[in-house]
Amino acid sequence: MGDRKAEGALQQVTTPDYEAMVIGAHPDDADFATAATSALWAKQGKKVVWVVMTDGTEGSEVPSIGDTDLMLIREQEQRMACEVLGVQAVEFLRFPDGHLVNSEEARKAVTRLIRKYRPRVVFTHDPSQHIYAPDPNESPESTGHINHPDHRATGNIVLDAIFPAVGNPRTYRELLAEGLLPYKVHELYLFSTSQVNTYIDVSETIELKGKGLNCHDTQFDAGVDMVERIRERAAVVAKDAKEKQGLDIQYAEAFRRIKLYIPKEEKEKASEKKE
Ligand SMILES: [Zn+2]
Repeated sequence: MGDRKAEGALQQVTTPDYEAMVIGAHPDDADFATAATSALWAKQGKKVVWVVMTDGTEGSEVPSIGDTDLMLIREQEQRMACEVLGVQAVEFLRFPDGHLVNSEEARKAVTRLIRKYRPRVVFTHDPSQHIYAPDPNESPESTGHINHPDHRATGNIVLDAIFPAVGNPRTYRELLAEGLLPYKVHELYLFSTSQVNTYIDVSETIELKGKGLNCHDTQFDAGVDMVERIRERAAVVAKDAKEKQGLDIQYAEAFRRIKLYIPKEEKEKASEKKE
């Protein structure tokens, strides 16, 4: 970065507007990874926005459905889920499902949204997670799986947008004319990661998470109720929280939390405590 006091220098905005922005590749990714945390924060009066990177047109076993039809159905499912969870806003970027790449266009679109909503925290996929697989020597009965390329692309697009594009006044200068000033994201929460350091107690909203997922009719077999399934999964995460951090939680969501910016007042408070 150059001289912040130079004539004409534009300062980064550091005051957030929204509490959180969750950026997922497909409609339903944010639901699986962060819905209970999103609902909990929304319940606490915090503003949450979800962003879906792709149009979701590869999320079906039926080749004959028209792309636009499937896209609109899935967007409607996502809107309904957000309503159940109390998520205030949802944005659809409509990049082609299954073919998302870390392009100039994608980084700019994400930069625009982060500057628009100014989230204190951004949640996204951990882009470094390529393969999830147990050691076959230890658990010969289990299979692994490959992380969806759109998930990895989304993680990379979002990280590249947060740094340097969102905070740099010289990047995508045309956004300044839209009133979108350079902004500093305070924290990043990566989901579906093997480097978990943060567990959130979501016992209060775990049922809403299942109900939100139930809105995604096109994604599950008829008659499947996600509420029980989600409880089971979240209980396993809570068990992990007990083993790793000694936390007593019934249902949890897990993240890798990364601090990118600490406001001055918070730093001062922290040093006062130490003294
Ligand atoms: Zn996905």
